[in-house]
Amino acid sequence: TANHLVVSAPTGGTERGESALNWIHREHDLERGLGAGEFEPFFQPIVTIAGGELAGFEALARWRHPDRGLVPPCEFIDLGEKSGLIRQIDLAIMADACALLRRTAGDRPLPFLSVNLSSQHFTDMDVVTGLAERLAMTGFPADRLKVELTETALVHDPHQAYEVMCRIKDLGVTLALDDFGTGYSSLSYLHKFPFDVLKIDQSFVRALGEVGRTHHIVETIITLARRMGMEVVAEGVETADLIRPLRELGCTFGQGYHYSRPVPADVMGGMLDRPIAS
Ligand code: C2E
Ligand code: CA
Ligand code: CA
Ligand code: CA
Repeated sequence: TANHLVVSAPTGGTERGESALNWIHREHDLERGLGAGEFEPFFQPIVTIAGGELAGFEALARWRHPDRGLVPPCEFIDLGEKSGLIRQIDLAIMADACALLRRTAGDRPLPFLSVNLSSQHFTDMDVVTGLAERLAMTGFPADRLKVELTETALVHDPHQAYEVMCRIKDLGVTLALDDFGTGYSSLSYLHKFPFDVLKIDQSFVRALGEVGRTHHIVETIITLARRMGMEVVAEGVETADLIRPLRELGCTFGQGYHYSRPVPADVMGGMLDRPIAS
């Protein structure tokens, strides 16, 4: 039967020489894990560059697998996108993160929450109802939620993506352009689409610690985004020496191992005792 499966396997499943049988096995396992509630959010702090105060968290998916242990996203996002299960994974992570953060914060000020949405969500309106339902379910305030998307979501059908983005904003949720500095990184996206936040990829941020022309590029991008009224998050802040240039460039927030790695919900709770930037 193996030969038969090779013929009927979805294209892309065998890209890395992986057998179709193995692909189907992995997809079933992903579906099983989703049904069993094995996906959970880790939380990585997003901190003000100016004062080093906690402002929010990015929710990052982890798969607590019964045999494989804690599985990082690089091992299942691909499969999730090829199988279409990513939509359910994204919304499960979003709902759990909203519920956990709200419950943990209690009466204390609520940091914002930033969640990742695969580009697949931006081809139809389903995600709008999906987000609205989960906001209602968890009681998480829409204006504390940010949705992160990459420009991949914009290239296939920009008009449709634009419509979806506007409906998400109608909910009161804000939009962040993720990974800027990878892919096309077209500056035109910044004014053609209603982004509130620009996240500068770690490859660019790292260049701030080095001599060379990239420094000027990063400087220009931050200045432009700030003039357009956007908040700017520097990703991958690994060392303290990056903070001074980021502050001088007017960067709003930083995120990276210098501040904290992504942590499970119980560790995140301990971070809420410190003052929260409003
Ligand atoms: P991303 O959205 O760009 O998230 C940031 C990634 O950089 C995270 O990796 C984070 O752990 C890592 N990171 C943070 N600070 C540093 C640093 O200082 N140095 C270095 N080297 N890395 C740092 P992670 O958690 O493994 O996630 C990888 C990617 O998987 C994410 O990249 C995102 O594209 C995707 N992903 C994660 N969770 C979800 C999800 O719920 N839905 C979707 N669709 N994608 C997700
Ligand atoms: Ca992200
Ligand atoms: Ca990113
Ligand atoms: Ca990334």
